[in-house]
Amino acid sequence: MRDTLSKRYDPKAVEEKWYVCWEKNGYFSARIRPGKKPYVIVIPPPNITGILTMGHVLNNTLQDILIRWKRMEGCEVLWLPGTDHAGIATQNVVEKELLKEGVRKEMLGRKGFLEKVWAWKEQYGRTIIQQLKRLGCSCDWSRERFTMDEGLSRAVREVFVRLYEKGLIYRGNYIINWCPRCHTALSDEEVEYEEHDGHLWYIRYPFKDGKGHVTVATTRPETMLGDTAVAVNPGDTRYKTLVGTQVILPAVNREIPVIADSFVDPAFGTGIVKVTPAHDPNDFLIGQRHHLEQVVVMNGSAVMNEKAGAEFSGMDRFECREALVKQLEDLKLIEKIEKHTHAIGHCYRCRTVIEPYLSAQWFVRMKPLAEPALKVVLDGKIRFYPPRWVKVYQNWMENIRDWCISRQLWWGHRIPVWYCQKCIQTSIVHSPQSIETLKSMDYGLSTIDKSGVIVSREKPSQCPRCGSTDLTQDDDVLDTWFSSWLWPFSTLGWPGETDDLKHFYPTTCLVTGPDIIFFWVARMIMAGMEFMGDIPFAHVFLHGIIRDKEGRKMSKSLGNSPDPLDVIGQYGADALRFTIARLSPIGQDVYYSNENCEIGRNFANKIWNASRFLLMNMGDSHEPFARDRFAWTADDRYVLSRLNETIRDVTGALNAYHFNEAAEKLYEFFWSDYCDWYIELVKPSLKDKESEDARRSRCVLLHCLETFLRLLCPLMPFLCEEIWQMLPGREGRGESVTTCSWPEVDSALIDPVIVEKVSRKFDVIRAVRNLRKEHDVPLDAVVGVIVKPASRDEKKLLEEGRKECLVLMKAGKMSLDPGFAPTKPMPTAPTPSGTVVYVDIAGAVDSSAQTDRLREEIEDIDKGIESVERELGNREFVKKAPPKIVEMRRKKKEQLLERREKVQKSLDHLLSK
Ligand SMILES: [Zn+2]
Ligand SMILES: [Zn+2]
Repeated sequence: MRDTLSKRYDPKAVEEKWYVCWEKNGYFSARIRPGKKPYVIVIPPPNITGILTMGHVLNNTLQDILIRWKRMEGCEVLWLPGTDHAGIATQNVVEKELLKEGVRKEMLGRKGFLEKVWAWKEQYGRTIIQQLKRLGCSCDWSRERFTMDEGLSRAVREVFVRLYEKGLIYRGNYIINWCPRCHTALSDEEVEYEEHDGHLWYIRYPFKDGKGHVTVATTRPETMLGDTAVAVNPGDTRYKTLVGTQVILPAVNREIPVIADSFVDPAFGTGIVKVTPAHDPNDFLIGQRHHLEQVVVMNGSAVMNEKAGAEFSGMDRFECREALVKQLEDLKLIEKIEKHTHAIGHCYRCRTVIEPYLSAQWFVRMKPLAEPALKVVLDGKIRFYPPRWVKVYQNWMENIRDWCISRQLWWGHRIPVWYCQKCIQTSIVHSPQSIETLKSMDYGLSTIDKSGVIVSREKPSQCPRCGSTDLTQDDDVLDTWFSSWLWPFSTLGWPGETDDLKHFYPTTCLVTGPDIIFFWVARMIMAGMEFMGDIPFAHVFLHGIIRDKEGRKMSKSLGNSPDPLDVIGQYGADALRFTIARLSPIGQDVYYSNENCEIGRNFANKIWNASRFLLMNMGDSHEPFARDRFAWTADDRYVLSRLNETIRDVTGALNAYHFNEAAEKLYEFFWSDYCDWYIELVKPSLKDKESEDARRSRCVLLHCLETFLRLLCPLMPFLCEEIWQMLPGREGRGESVTTCSWPEVDSALIDPVIVEKVSRKFDVIRAVRNLRKEHDVPLDAVVGVIVKPASRDEKKLLEEGRKECLVLMKAGKMSLDPGFAPTKPMPTAPTPSGTVVYVDIAGAVDSSAQTDRLREEIEDIDKGIESVERELGNREFVKKAPPKIVEMRRKKKEQLLERREKVQKSLDHLLSK
């Protein structure tokens, strides 16, 4: 007798052991085998500062399920892992660490600081990789990449130079989003907007002649110090005569003109707006159209400078706002102040309010790149799952703006641009300018070359024009996404023409969250089309965002995100993986709480215990399965049919990225069909080990378990491996379940007629069991059952299955009586086919204890209903909570009401006796 499995499933004892074994055997390594179809996923590279979050768990579990499934289907699978250097995030972390020791980065200098960052990266940068292994991710670690490793840095420089030579990269003075804390430019996508209760100040600008004034409205009064005009809409008849006159800018006493520009919205405020070309993106454009001066009134820390006037110079922007408003009030120049709600942009890294800021930056011209990238999606060459994202993508691509790619940071790919001092001096004959001045000028491409700007793949040893060696590299680094947008091909060796690149590009599927569709997905498609001339991936699967039970996004600051490693410690990686898959309906957010993992853990235990039971009853020999090996009973044929339906459904669900459906189907088959029905049905027959019945049942039991483990393996690989290794008769089926073949459907075994027939028998048994439970019949009490069958067929079916029915219903006898009419009150219930079941519980229940219990339950239910009603009656809650949560509450109320009715019925029934 086999009893090799311990009594309880202990994931801790199992998971690490198998991961090491799989890695050692090279199961995760891809090889170039021309005969095999490649299936490739590149991992969304986690930041090196990252530690595993529930978001990573969701993203990587789904990838691993696909990868393991396709590996079993016989594809040449490559899951390419790596990490991202995460410019701002990493620099911030290391800066903070150093500050703890009293060291500012400026004290170390650029080189010294970068050494510290690399040292930090060596020590902590792979934490998340180790954690992904704990989760069971079967990445090809031999191909792990880092966005700043040598190969990828080479790709970045190559791309910069190619785009520059094509005229798609330019440098210019523009308004960009500036973080005054991080001291860097941010792309539009790196700014997060939040509704904010602010004010709208109505400020009077007196006419030059002192007679009267105009009133402008603004949400940021401190920027008025940089005003160089006020503007009205040319069609606004109220102000026609004002255009061309001069007003006095208060506090500064500068004369500024009234201009007409169609951008002005006559309905906003008074219809007259201030124009601040250096501190507002729209005003910047108005300023360009009207050749207005750009007056920068703050420095990079958002502290007012001397251009703001002596009074305000040195003040923080918000301090200045207060002082300025006070002064204007004293001068009676504030007409009124209104409450005003508007969206304020924040730095996505440090939450500081961003400042629109005029500075010299590098940009990528996006329009020419966007066109082919949009086409391949609209043509269906790249498919989005779910497809509704196509519209979002299209809208963004059609309105795309140039991408600001320079960052005033030290950590990152330094811009491959050098300035030749000598050429700069000589090219500007009239007024020799320093590099600083030149860098802040808005110049076109041709002048760049003429004025000594060298864009080069490698560091130039001397100026190609004048031979000078006095070269200075641009101080800025590139946006982090400027390396990650190349990820699908730079990781495969591009710009080299490597075998990996030839074999594994384009990749098959990208699995990511919709929050980085613009940051990353769209740009990868653009880069793929531009540099590879082909799509980077055929499918984009966009999973939801992981939220807590209340519907809030999980985040560090809210403290509502459990540490996945704790969850793995408590429930096991398999339980977490299964739970995540089960909670992931396509395209919808995932509502997670740790209690959900209990389902995964209970499922693992159920599988463990069933396997243990099976192995103990296996005997010394086993019967390999073949379709016609035995004369199958209806119950055998039922479970074999359900098994093959499950293979079909799980495969179909995975093909459609319906992970939750795959998990449900697996759960349903194993828990219900296999354990609750089949094992229970054949248990009696297993007792006589040598009997034909026992041999036949064992053959079916083993075949189902073995097939099920292969199906479940992508979701719960550790558990499946542990059990797989103990199965008899797996010789020749693969040394590890992870390298087994994916089960194939045997359509001849799918038999809907048998399934429907046997289900009717189960319905009767289930009805009896439910009635027993509802009426608190003790588990070991024997009851009498009377069945009023709906048809002659059903009567025959129950007759044939009488033996199992009695066991599973725990009934002393079962009468089949089509004309039955009860003469006393009896618990009764119909089955879906119309058969009616009666249970005689006389003598099986203690009715006074039962009455008390039912009364208590009704009280509890009423409390529950009251609490849900209170929530639903709260307007704020209904307004603010996500619709899905409100819906869940409504459902809960319905369920409680339903349950109450049932309990009340049982109680009435007891009292009527
Ligand atoms: Zn910041
Ligand atoms: Zn030169």
